[in-house]
Amino acid sequence: MQQHEYFNESIYPFPAKPAPLDDQQRAAYKQRIKQLLKEKDAVLVAHYYTDPEIQALAEETGGCVADSLEMARFGNNHPAKTLLVAGVRFMGETAKILTPEKKVIMPTLEATCSLDLGCPEHEFAEFCDQHPEHTVVVYANTSAAVKARADWVVTSSIAVDVVEHLDAEGHKIIWAPDKHLGGYVAKQTGAEMLLWQGACIVHDEFKAKALRQLKQQHPDAAILVHPESPESVVAIADSVGSTSQLIAAAKTLPNKTLIVATDKGIFYKMQQACPDKEMIEAPTGGNGATCRSCAHCPWMAMNGLKAIEEALTDASGKEVFVDQGLIKKALVPLNRMLGFAKNNQLKVKGNA
Ligand code: SF4
Repeated sequence: MQQHEYFNESIYPFPAKPAPLDDQQRAAYKQRIKQLLKEKDAVLVAHYYTDPEIQALAEETGGCVADSLEMARFGNNHPAKTLLVAGVRFMGETAKILTPEKKVIMPTLEATCSLDLGCPEHEFAEFCDQHPEHTVVVYANTSAAVKARADWVVTSSIAVDVVEHLDAEGHKIIWAPDKHLGGYVAKQTGAEMLLWQGACIVHDEFKAKALRQLKQQHPDAAILVHPESPESVVAIADSVGSTSQLIAAAKTLPNKTLIVATDKGIFYKMQQACPDKEMIEAPTGGNGATCRSCAHCPWMAMNGLKAIEEALTDASGKEVFVDQGLIKKALVPLNRMLGFAKNNQLKVKGNA
């Protein structure tokens, strides 16, 4: 069946960047946000790929910076009645699925993800229906409706273990939506997998040739790669892993210089984990001038201070709602992963 061309800008136009703010405006927004978080009994949870000042604000105000599942878990355990999720749409949905009794708001509901966009519910259901003998495994970066259609939801840190387990039990697997991560998992496990052809517009742009050239200039550097990157980029990595795993690797690797192939928003937490190390962005789209995402997700960048302040002031049109029926269905594959992780004493941190 015909799948979306995820790179076609007429299907996925990049959003406009928030208007730049001067120092005075930024300070005023931050102060107002702090006050509103208290007044509204809300907590700010931010993804690793949001801008550093948003991550810093989440930490300063008692919120957290994490991957989507950890964001949802933190929100679940936090006493605040409202969760303000700075990230992309599927992250707000995951928070709502795991904490339906709380109000979940986002700086903008327009912030989406090329993996989510590239895996529309009906086309995906049709694809699954064509292969009824397959077990459906979907990555966390999907809509609630796609999760509801799946047998398993996985994060990048647990994907190999789950697929290995399913393969050992003789399952044939449908994997969606990221073709690079799916290819990586298939290679690691040897499992038979039908891959949906989605990709992340940030990771897909990392280039192996330019990365090799950069490594020649920094021969002592270690290369850290997120497995949503192309196979040729993953092949030259010293460490491959989810966001949380890459931060841990940055700390434990002995190298003083790190070349990092994932969204550059992660540098904020990486630098915190190892302040004495030098971080270098992996090259995208050739020599940089022609890159489209330039190692920063355009949808994550929509989570600016102004949008956060507006969501706290007036949440109308910014609240995440997920149909009760969908929540019930999506919880089944999500809980299957959480149960598997618990039984196998694995961590499930680490989707994009
Ligand atoms: S960085 Fe990639 S996977 Fe993450 S939200 Fe953006 S488009 Fe989606």
